[in-house]
Amino acid sequence: MIEIKDLHKSYKMGANSLHVLKGINFSVEEGEMVSIMGSSGSGKSTLLNILGMLDEADEGTYHLDGKPIKNLNEKIAAKYRNQFLGFIFQSFNLINYKNALDNVAMPLYYQGVKRNIRTEKAMHYLEKVGLADWATHLPNELSGGQKQRVAIARALASDPKVLLADEPTGALDSKTSYEVMELIQGINDEGKTILCVTHEDDIAHMCKRIVNLKDGIIIDDSKVSQVRAATAYKKAIEHV
Ligand code: ADP
Ligand code: MG
Repeated sequence: MIEIKDLHKSYKMGANSLHVLKGINFSVEEGEMVSIMGSSGSGKSTLLNILGMLDEADEGTYHLDGKPIKNLNEKIAAKYRNQFLGFIFQSFNLINYKNALDNVAMPLYYQGVKRNIRTEKAMHYLEKVGLADWATHLPNELSGGQKQRVAIARALASDPKVLLADEPTGALDSKTSYEVMELIQGINDEGKTILCVTHEDDIAHMCKRIVNLKDGIIIDDSKVSQVRAATAYKKAIEHV
């Protein structure tokens, strides 16, 4: 599904350059749930943005579903992004003046899906994340956890092959984080490939494999036995 080889990325800042990714090699098979873990500044978002075709590497190769991702024109890049990738961000990135349903329907609009089909599909995904009753509410009428659920529904709406999440629980309290992770685990249970960036150990262990980044290098890449978020949630309530 994803294969990267010897990936390098630097940021130019005036005369200086900051070498952020220093030769990254890894691949992800269909159906995996992988956490990219590391402290702040280790290059996690840089890597995820390259995987998400929001940015390009300076060196190395990237294949997504067998296709080389390099020097694509914007039209093809947009097509691949739409077809292959769904994004979830720490800050939700919802459109404030659009209600939950319209937020979820956005990617379908860009795919040229007709209005009635858009609405039907968006409603289906809102139901899937448990927010059917909130369809006409604006983001500022929703809790943090609900906003992230809308963002997850939006990411799923175009049925992407891979879900990329950058600190999806970073703005949420522990209990809400576990609820969101339970939802994400359920999506992976159905077979969706998921990459989840986090700096939190408990969240990383809710994935099935942890790729540990430090100073732009992978220092460890291991399968782990997945902690179910529902179990962690129960424990969290018992301790209140
Ligand atoms: P993480 O997500 O692990 O916290 P990032 O990938 O965001 O790390 O950043 C890695 C390093 O690159 C940091 O030192 C950060 O300040 C720097 N960086 C990130 N984005 C840019 C940018 N657009 N321009 C310059 N430096 C950047
Ligand atoms: Mg980051």
